Amino acid sequence: MGEFDLIKRYFTRKVRRARLGVGDDCALIAPMLDMDLAISTDMLVSGRHFFPFMDPRKLGHKALAVNLSDLAAMGAVPRYFTLSLALPKADDVWLESFSTGLFELAEAYSCELIGGDTTKGALTISITVIGESRRPFALLRSGAKAGDDIWVSGELGDAALALRFFQKKAKLSESEFTRVRQKLETPQPRISLGLALRPIASSAIDISDGLVGDLGHILTASGVGARIDVGAIPVSTALAAQSGTLQYRCALAGGDDYELCFTASPERREAIDQLSLSLGLRLTRIGEIVPEAGLMLLDKDGNPANFSLQAYDHFA
Ligand code: ADP
Ligand code: MG
Repeated sequence: MGEFDLIKRYFTRKVRRARLGVGDDCALIAPMLDMDLAISTDMLVSGRHFFPFMDPRKLGHKALAVNLSDLAAMGAVPRYFTLSLALPKADDVWLESFSTGLFELAEAYSCELIGGDTTKGALTISITVIGESRRPFALLRSGAKAGDDIWVSGELGDAALALRFFQKKAKLSESEFTRVRQKLETPQPRISLGLALRPIASSAIDISDGLVGDLGHILTASGVGARIDVGAIPVSTALAAQSGTLQYRCALAGGDDYELCFTASPERREAIDQLSLSLGLRLTRIGEIVPEAGLMLLDKDGNPANFSLQAYDHFA
């Protein structure tokens, strides 16, 4: 199978919204009136972002999910994506499974594959997503104000816990492992939440590198600080059963959660509780924005907690 057969067989689908999809020198899309295009790229490298033995169908899901998560954090609607692949070899079984997982998620969000690039090399997947965001503004990192509540969706730390299990650094029962590995391998992008938060939240970010680091980006961009009630951070029963140190490591600094962290005025509490009910998604208030720079972590007695935590940084 040559490069062009491979593209045709596995990555060419009829497009409905795009004016021109895979097959020419460029794809063509018609920008919509009153919409900004929201564009984001995320790359997954074998051995760095996923185990080489990972199920290719789950990998197809995850590669797109981490990109859709960035659109969710902006409150943008997914529309198109491009796929750049470096593959060690043209393996039909692998490609069939990978493309199945990829298109299942793409179709769930009507997000069309419109182009990409394919080369031989160490397994690397780079996706660029293009979404649409109604003007004037998307949900930015820079809008948090002193007095705002800080919220997170879902439960934090399970992906990091699953990773530690794979590395034999944590123990889990079979049923616990089944649940937490879903968070690591097939995260669900919080698209509906991001869209619903547009009129409610003052800022948002998706948690890909750990709460402390990602909330830190909101604080820096907004020129504010925060107090977090560590005991309020929502964790699964599987994580709650682990040692205190491991719980905090995973929930505060564990990567790959792909939940949203957002800020909103206290006046919006009722609206957010309603939203949680209508989405069937846990939304938890974990702290507040303060005027002074810095992130303070408070234990259950309101005393500063001492953790040495570091968000993931590829070059640190
Ligand atoms: P070029 O020579 O302009 O780089 P290519 O020969 O690499 O074009 O690609 C041919 C067509 O196939 C283009 O439309 C490109 O966008 C598309 N394409 C290549 N690889 C992929 C892929 N992995 N997924 C989707 N489309 C792809
Ligand atoms: Mg090319």
